[in-house]
Amino acid sequence: MADFGRFFLPGPTEVRADVLAAQCRPMIGHRGKGMEELLARIQPGLQRLFCTSRPVYIAASSATGFMEGALRNGARRRVLSLVNGAFSDRFHKIALACGLEADALTVEWGAPHDPAQVADALAGGRYDAVTVVHSETSTGVLNPIRELAETVHASGDAVLLVDSVTGLGGAPCDTDAWGLDVVLTGSQKAMALPPGLAFAVAQPNILERAATIPGRGVYFDFLEFEKYALQHQTPNTPAVSLLHALEAQIARMDAETLPVRLARHEAMARRTWGWVEEMQARGTPMCILAPEGYRSWTVTTIALPTHLTGSAVNAAMKSLGFTISAGYGKLKDTTIRIGHMGDHTVEELDVLLDALTTVVTR
Ligand SMILES: *Cc1c(COP(=O)(O)O)cnc(C)c1O
Repeated sequence: MADFGRFFLPGPTEVRADVLAAQCRPMIGHRGKGMEELLARIQPGLQRLFCTSRPVYIAASSATGFMEGALRNGARRRVLSLVNGAFSDRFHKIALACGLEADALTVEWGAPHDPAQVADALAGGRYDAVTVVHSETSTGVLNPIRELAETVHASGDAVLLVDSVTGLGGAPCDTDAWGLDVVLTGSQKAMALPPGLAFAVAQPNILERAATIPGRGVYFDFLEFEKYALQHQTPNTPAVSLLHALEAQIARMDAETLPVRLARHEAMARRTWGWVEEMQARGTPMCILAPEGYRSWTVTTIALPTHLTGSAVNAAMKSLGFTISAGYGKLKDTTIRIGHMGDHTVEELDVLLDALTTVVTR
């Protein structure tokens, strides 16, 4: 059995053995030269990944930490939460839990957000921050982030806070060119690292806002992250072993180059969509939840025929040695999700889809 290519969860994703092994490097002190040099080596690769000239912040937390950080530093008054799935709903709930006033603009799970509808909601200037999830990992929808950023900025001085946890590194996300005010991700999705690191970029306008917000907390204070990032340090003790894995993974990503990495993800996504069509043509009534043109490059959510459940398909795949995911939240039993992201290849995906064919046509 191949030692890589059987684990297709939409996070955490499969991690290459050499990247895992890098975590066994000896400890280094976090205020010493060694750590500064390590962070200085890592930084340019992260900036290439985020398509930014801003420093990329690194936190020892899961991605949720920087979702909270984005809101605590970037929202002064009322937040508009664009909700079209479980993770964007979580972003909304985090806003409320931070004591912010927040309204959800909810569209059907499986649909993308429409910039015109967002423009209507923003007219009147009630909101000064908008949250959105780039790739909704529960539904497999890819929101039109670039257009949404244009819409938000055209409405006044509102900012767009982007959760690109299953976007960045697997789908185009041009942080600076698209004018994204905050972009955040976590290590365990398209970056194919172990869980435990979160990454974020904040534009200067966010730091100006943060400076006026007294209650922005300590652990995710962007002003602290900025100050330390500029010196190739972190505000607190970093997750040293994970940073070693990150360095190894950045070397792999740089060797592949971002355009090739993204093209590989697009090819895996297209292969998965094509497979669903093949199944339909052979009489298995399944379909891709997200509409054409708004499908994630990293995760596909497939609506199952009524005689199958997500957990049953999952279990059957498990018995064949493969890991995929049942649906998420209210889609748990009616859908399955395939995470075709990180370091997987189309060839590995083909093997998975062959196994899945036997399971769904049984
Ligand atoms: C996984 C995921 C999160 C949460 O990430 P954690 O690392 O578990 O905090 C948030 N948003 C999206 C879109 C995700 O896929």
